[in-house]
Amino acid sequence: MTVLTVKTSHREELVDVTRQVQTAADKTGVESGIVICFVPHTTAGITINEDADPDVQRDIIDKLSREIPRDDGFHHTEGNSDAHIKASLMGSSVQVLLETGQLVLGRWQGIFFCEFDGPRSRQLLVKVARFA
Ligand code: ZN
Repeated sequence: MTVLTVKTSHREELVDVTRQVQTAADKTGVESGIVICFVPHTTAGITINEDADPDVQRDIIDKLSREIPRDDGFHHTEGNSDAHIKASLMGSSVQVLLETGQLVLGRWQGIFFCEFDGPRSRQLLVKVARFA
């Protein structure tokens, strides 16, 4: 397993981690398999979406913020319930096929670490399983 560090610089942001995940996969030498990316945090998530127009990432963050305001009468006293909810909506893991050592992503797709309670130094766990 590879533990990647993702340093975020805003409270909420999507960080393109596609290259880091590919590099982690490269180091395993696996040609054919599946790459599992797991976020071990409760206020951050991970998703696959458009990697071409950065406005898509901005729109995702903006829409989530409008739908799930930071202060909305939540019970959790830590004051970051919005981040917990957004993290659950995005999910904690993604899986990507690996063929000839390359992540199999659609032309416009990238893997994004989703920060909802930053800025922080975060972890992203990457495991590559080899297909027989
Ligand atoms: Zn909390």
